[in-house]
Amino acid sequence: MTSIRETATAAFIEAYGDEPTGLWAAPGRVNLIGEHTDYNDGFVLPFALPQRTVAAVGPAPDGRWSVCSTLAPDPVTFGVTEPGEVTGWGAYVAGVVWALRDAGFEVPPVRIALASDVPLGSGLSSSAALESSVLTALIDLGGLDVPLERRPAIAQRAENVYVGAPTGILDQSASIRCLQGRALFLDCRSYRIEQIPFDLAAEGLAILVINSNAPHQHVDGEYGERRKSCEAAAAALGVPALRDVSTAELDDALRRLDDDVLRRRARHIITENQRVLDTVSLLRSGRVREIGPLLTASHASMRDDFEITVAQVDVAVQSALEAGAYGARMTGGGFGGCVLALIDADRAEATATAVAVAYEERGFTAPTSWVAVAGPGATAL
Ligand code: ADP
Ligand code: MG
Repeated sequence: MTSIRETATAAFIEAYGDEPTGLWAAPGRVNLIGEHTDYNDGFVLPFALPQRTVAAVGPAPDGRWSVCSTLAPDPVTFGVTEPGEVTGWGAYVAGVVWALRDAGFEVPPVRIALASDVPLGSGLSSSAALESSVLTALIDLGGLDVPLERRPAIAQRAENVYVGAPTGILDQSASIRCLQGRALFLDCRSYRIEQIPFDLAAEGLAILVINSNAPHQHVDGEYGERRKSCEAAAAALGVPALRDVSTAELDDALRRLDDDVLRRRARHIITENQRVLDTVSLLRSGRVREIGPLLTASHASMRDDFEITVAQVDVAVQSALEAGAYGARMTGGGFGGCVLALIDADRAEATATAVAVAYEERGFTAPTSWVAVAGPGATAL
């Protein structure tokens, strides 16, 4: 089978006629727990997928930037731009060049060809994989002094300001900072990170990722709505962000909110932050199986309080649990996307089959499932 790096190299040669001088890769991610908490200054716990985006890169003699992808083989070429000038998928790359320049760095002009095995638009963060592979290549080739801890925010600005997608810091942090065999515990206020041991195979366990393959609907509008509700709830409670409300203060906080929707949105964020902390504590002490109920509780909270699930992901969670999973939840922003299930390592096929059968019974498009092992973050190859 042709590897992604070979595909990226071939795409470079096809588009530009010479060999790339280097290859960089950055992964997609799944978030183990902590959904929609990132833009509430809260906690998240992603790990990097083995699936990644590879950027094959070579210098650009004309002083401009060119990028093509196996998904869009005709190169997009641009000079120094401002947000809005490059649109479509090329905006993710122009955005990274812009954000680096805006942070004061001299960005080397390059030609780029991208290839990826991260599924697009499935909540596994193909956008951050793209940004992070390009960002890392530009930093290395330009010899730029950009410490690791600054990089996620630069990639996030590319997506927020240039592409115009109001996402939090989770995806870019995961793609850039994750380590093999670890989950990344990230405080989205201080950006403090802790690498949490996450070697499931040693425990006879596995994470099964189930892509619901459900069509994403109204994602951007709903995402913006949820952000607004969280900000409104924080303002009503007189705190900078919902992160500042602990579960001990939950009942009191809910009493002070007079809108039922705001109450439920706030309850999801406040309890979800605590579930991340509890998951981290269990993982730190090696009690991996016990995180199952937290995963399932997170799903119920997303389904009932935050209202970001759809029938396909609810059915996947339910069938995985019925097939013996220790816990299961939707992962990613919602309205489709993927589910993860914590299972005994020898139950992967049986669990995947149980979900596929449930989908068939309901006439849903067939799901795609695989076992995800925590891989490395962005790197030169
Ligand atoms: P997700 O990040 O969950 O996969 P997004 O909507 O945030 O979904 O990002 C998907 C978008 O990112 C695509 O529509 C496309 O514009 C861009 N993209 C990601 N990977 C690639 C790629 N390999 N080639 C071209 N565009 C890509
Ligand atoms: Mg994305």
